Amino acid sequence: MRSVVTFHYTLRDPSGQVLDTSSGTAPVTYLEGAGQIIDGLDEQLRGAAAGSKTRVTVLAAKAYGERDSAQVQRIKRAQLPVEGELHVGDQFQTDSDQFAPVVTIAGIDGDEVLLDANHPLAGVDLTFDVEILSVRAATEAELSHGHAHGSDGHACG
Ligand SMILES: [Zn+2]
Repeated sequence: MRSVVTFHYTLRDPSGQVLDTSSGTAPVTYLEGAGQIIDGLDEQLRGAAAGSKTRVTVLAAKAYGERDSAQVQRIKRAQLPVEGELHVGDQFQTDSDQFAPVVTIAGIDGDEVLLDANHPLAGVDLTFDVEILSVRAATEAELSHGHAHGSDGHACG
């Protein structure tokens, strides 16, 4: 049986810096095994009980993947659809689509730019402090849609 789990989390990198947290915002609700959260976290939260707190470390390979040097490319500055000055570390989307990949300026060399298309968290081992708020059985509709319908199971659409 697959569950729908609702949790709060704080995400830290290996140096302990907070990268993201749901604290102060809505908790996350997901259907187990549906790819709604990163695989390594989904796998390690299986069987966790409502009310429990746990620390989960997810290695980069099970999170946003290892860094791939082939994803770093040198292109002409003029090919970038970005106005104004560029700085190393600037990030922008490759398209106006909100799900378009994010690229990072890894270097600037004259009229050429090094673009890194790796996910900003590629190669980073992630530590999640998780508080499980609720666990319930997935509904038929959730199983057929392949996603959770919110913490109370209301239908989508
Ligand atoms: Zn749905």
